[in-house]
Amino acid sequence: MSKLKIAELFYSIQGEGRYMGVPSVFLRTFGCNFKCAGFGMPKGELSTEVEEIAHIHQKMEYKTYGDLPLVSTGCDSYASWDPRFKDLSPMLTSDAIVDRIMEIIPFNEWRDEHLVITGGEPLLGWQRAYPDLLSHPKMAGLKEITFETNGTQELSKEFKDYLVQWQMPDVNFEREVTFSVSAKLSCSGEARHEAIRPDIVCEYETYGYTYLKFVVATEADAEEAIETADIYRAEGFTGPVYLMPVGGVESVYALNNRRVAELAMKNGLRYSDRLQVPLFKNEWGT
Ligand code: SF4
Repeated sequence: MSKLKIAELFYSIQGEGRYMGVPSVFLRTFGCNFKCAGFGMPKGELSTEVEEIAHIHQKMEYKTYGDLPLVSTGCDSYASWDPRFKDLSPMLTSDAIVDRIMEIIPFNEWRDEHLVITGGEPLLGWQRAYPDLLSHPKMAGLKEITFETNGTQELSKEFKDYLVQWQMPDVNFEREVTFSVSAKLSCSGEARHEAIRPDIVCEYETYGYTYLKFVVATEADAEEAIETADIYRAEGFTGPVYLMPVGGVESVYALNNRRVAELAMKNGLRYSDRLQVPLFKNEWGT
């Protein structure tokens, strides 16, 4: 039986992208290939906000994700990949994960809920565990799945062979896969040649509905997003493009959301909110 290291597993409303407003189970896997320490920082600077939190955690101050402070700079889900917090993320079997999902959805069976597999970066090595998890008999009623990815991880042959089955005409259940690709611009602090991988993202389109979602704060970020989207288009990408405001805490989000919506309108792009911030203050588990 497959196992996954799970940072968080919770039920909430999807706050971003295509399924904004849809009741959703969030399965947050542990681990990421990036740090995104540039978010919310002056150009060229990297956030060190998590250092103090990690220092306090070394003294075993934080017992659960819910105890951890939110950050206003850097990656807002830092504990889902930073090894200093790995003790908060248990390794669970697919059976245990499915049982927990059945406990947290309202009618203990899939109805209109959608599953979000997020991270960290959910398309790292965990791809090998998804067929086992998603083929579990209690997952049969699940119709829609989104992978929230940074768009840098190739799909493995085994996972592609698994995903392609759902596109066969004789398959006896409907299941739609979405790849929500949050490709990282320079404001993330990540190297462009590693973050922008149109070759990889174009392949996702073969296996599911795929869109790009760029986190932006300024007009310069929006211009970079548009230029970057053109690079994906030049490689054959056909999906929609969203702009989403930076802001893991309400004070930062509120400074940006209207301006980013206006930038999206001005450039004929889609706007994605981050409803979890105004609704739930972006607390862990929302
Ligand atoms: S890719 Fe996502 S999870 Fe990974 S560090 Fe960046 S924002 Fe955080």
